[in-house]
Amino acid sequence: MFSEELLKLDQQHIWHPYSSTIMPSPVYPVERADGVMITLKDGRQLIDGMSSWWAALHGYNHPRLNAAAHKQLEKMSHIMFGGFTHDAAGELTQLLLGILPQGLDQIFYADSGSVAVEVAMKMAVQYQHAKGHPNKYKFATIRSGYHGDTWHAMSVCDPITGMHSLFQQSLPIQFFLPQPSVTFDQPWNAKAIQPLAELLEQHHQDIAALILEPVVQGAGGMYFYSPEYLRQAQILCQQYDVLLIFDEIATGFGRTGKLFAAEFAQITPDIMCIGKALTGGYLTLSATITSKAIADMICQSEAKCFMHGPTFMANPLACAIATESIRLLLESDWQTNIQRIEQQLRRELQPASQLSYVKDVRVLGAIGVIELDRPVNLSTLQPKFVEQGIWLRPFNRLVYVMPPFIIQPDQLHQLTTGMIKVIKAEFGEQ
Ligand SMILES: *Cc1c(COP(=O)(O)O)cnc(C)c1O
Repeated sequence: MFSEELLKLDQQHIWHPYSSTIMPSPVYPVERADGVMITLKDGRQLIDGMSSWWAALHGYNHPRLNAAAHKQLEKMSHIMFGGFTHDAAGELTQLLLGILPQGLDQIFYADSGSVAVEVAMKMAVQYQHAKGHPNKYKFATIRSGYHGDTWHAMSVCDPITGMHSLFQQSLPIQFFLPQPSVTFDQPWNAKAIQPLAELLEQHHQDIAALILEPVVQGAGGMYFYSPEYLRQAQILCQQYDVLLIFDEIATGFGRTGKLFAAEFAQITPDIMCIGKALTGGYLTLSATITSKAIADMICQSEAKCFMHGPTFMANPLACAIATESIRLLLESDWQTNIQRIEQQLRRELQPASQLSYVKDVRVLGAIGVIELDRPVNLSTLQPKFVEQGIWLRPFNRLVYVMPPFIIQPDQLHQLTTGMIKVIKAEFGEQ
């Protein structure tokens, strides 16, 4: 298809994430992607700074991931998981059990991050039901979170950026806590946990679970907070029989410098969600994991089973690729590599903090964030990044980068310098 034909068809008939059919935002026809390079149909090449939203850890078109896909394709691409099991799910499970936080050993495979969150929330409700607390069905969360776009996942997203007003009448009302006030680098202050302590004291009879993104809040604000908050939250949750759910869909598989962000706090949540980088960005696959004890309790509820079963549950093709992607990660010296990316991001983004309109520059693992004091205009900034040969997709006041782990220093340098150059061209040199 010629680019013009594609663009016309796309503009007339295809939705994009958060897109308008009246004012469609520009899209770039992409031909292929290899390693960290994205090739547009007009031949231009862009260095990927987004990992396709946290997912493509090993870059694109990886020979080993391709081979794993081919091998599985020859056997079967999919088979129903009701009544069947297969090596692809078995091998992935074996691998995950070896790396997940201790005690998480009952895995539910689903097809997207949002569904994994729905599943976690349903597990919490069924658990409370089985324990004889049918009134504990609401959820607590912290502001600026993001947990996906389906109904209940949306209900625990930040109420402002998640546009709760729009869906007000049909969204369940949840309990929102302030964003943890102690940042990742700051010394702990017990005041930060006070709002949660008070909420649970007053409303624990109504609350099934506390759900949050551990340490790194992603799409809701790219904010890094103290792991001590998680330890304190766990103590309180146990005290009030409220389950603790970690949404590690963005943070999982090394992005923060730990395999899972829960490791910063050295605790095991009751339920954990993973997705995004699980397949190295090849296919959509997610999982919700809990302990055997909680799983068994869920199965003592009225239904006598856990009430969820997606058509594409544990899709063999996705599972086979996920297994290979995790092997690739574990075989690599990923920790040293993330440290190298982290140090370079710190060094090269820090100068931006001198700009009068830059509010904060923060880096954790392979995530670098420049927070401005004003919102950016995506449709004016994006073409400028493309001119610089880099692919970034800022939102709100945040211009940020989270490259594939295989990025080389010179490529990362081009990303960070391009990022700052475009910001300066847009907002001024000072
Ligand atoms: C992306 C994301 C989700 C939703 O995942 P989808 O696959 O887009 O449904 C949920 N939680 C977090 C933390 C995410 O970053």
